[in-house]
Amino acid sequence: MADISKYKICTLASHSALQILKGAKDEGFETIAICQKGREGIYESYNVADKIITLDKFEDYFKIEEELVKDNAIIIPHGSFVSYLGHEKIESIKAMHYGNKKIIEWESDREKERKWLLDAKLNLPKIYKDPEEIDGPVIIKFHGAQGGKGYFIANNPQEYHERINESGNNDEHAIQEYIVGVPLYTHYFYSRLTDELEIMSFDKRYESNADSIGRISAKDQLDTNIRTSYTITGNIPLVVRESLLPILHEMGRNVIESSKKFVDGGLFGPFCLEAIIDPNLQFFVFEISARIVAGTNPFINGSPYTWLKYDVPMSTGRRIALDIKQAIQEDKLDMVLG
Ligand code: ATP
Repeated sequence: MADISKYKICTLASHSALQILKGAKDEGFETIAICQKGREGIYESYNVADKIITLDKFEDYFKIEEELVKDNAIIIPHGSFVSYLGHEKIESIKAMHYGNKKIIEWESDREKERKWLLDAKLNLPKIYKDPEEIDGPVIIKFHGAQGGKGYFIANNPQEYHERINESGNNDEHAIQEYIVGVPLYTHYFYSRLTDELEIMSFDKRYESNADSIGRISAKDQLDTNIRTSYTITGNIPLVVRESLLPILHEMGRNVIESSKKFVDGGLFGPFCLEAIIDPNLQFFVFEISARIVAGTNPFINGSPYTWLKYDVPMSTGRRIALDIKQAIQEDKLDMVLG
């Protein structure tokens, strides 16, 4: 049986790194955290990294890549990794990379993402190509906006133009039907080794100021001219009605099957479908993340769902390490790298 001590698990110290590194240590791996200068303290204090490499900025990753290759490090990508490096640079990574690099392009490009999700037979909010066609509530999403910052709502063409001018932002953006319902982020894990799809956990986001507007009266909202914004500040754990689990499982499976049509090797490892559920229990999926999401962070100690299946606290970070460990032991590491 191949020896896991030859490998190290490594990630950028942000986003879901604490969970990834802790999970790797729990599965018996040594770990490396790549930290931005000044942020090392928290990773030292939680004792999750056997080695810390400090960079002035994450974009300098390629300056230290040689060291990672020598260390036989396996990089675990996450949301910050994708947004700091971008999918093109990620494709040029030489160190071992967990998950399929090519899928990142499909989650990062709105057109490709839509094509993929529609192919998977998911229900998506309508997109308005022309603002003059706005005939109900819409959400304006700027490309590359991180964490919902700067998004706004409009109800007709006039409001759209007013608010675009008000925002002073001329960047490319999508005009998407605003679905009135509750947000649900489903965290999946798909292992190519076992061909098994697991629902790991669920969250919803804690956003400023969307999650605080209800704390003041409608009159005060109008008097102070508050505009809704969605700056993410944290994540709130959820469980869903048990009767929703079969459909959610099927949706995840469809996404995996359809990914194989677009990208060699398809999607594997952790991913997340981000949806709004309306009062008729219809799901509107507005985004896919094809890597671990920060919404799994409330479950470092496992979730109600992972507790059903595992005898140990199984976070998504730990599940990744378990996948890698199994791959090493079965001499199938290629199946989890990409
Ligand atoms: P990313 O996950 O790429 O960082 P983001 O955080 O920039 O994306 P989204 O997650 O797409 O932004 O959306 C921000 C907020 O807007 C979330 O609260 C989400 O629930 C809400 N939202 C997004 N799209 C819709 C929609 N079509 N209808 C209703 N609410 C939506």
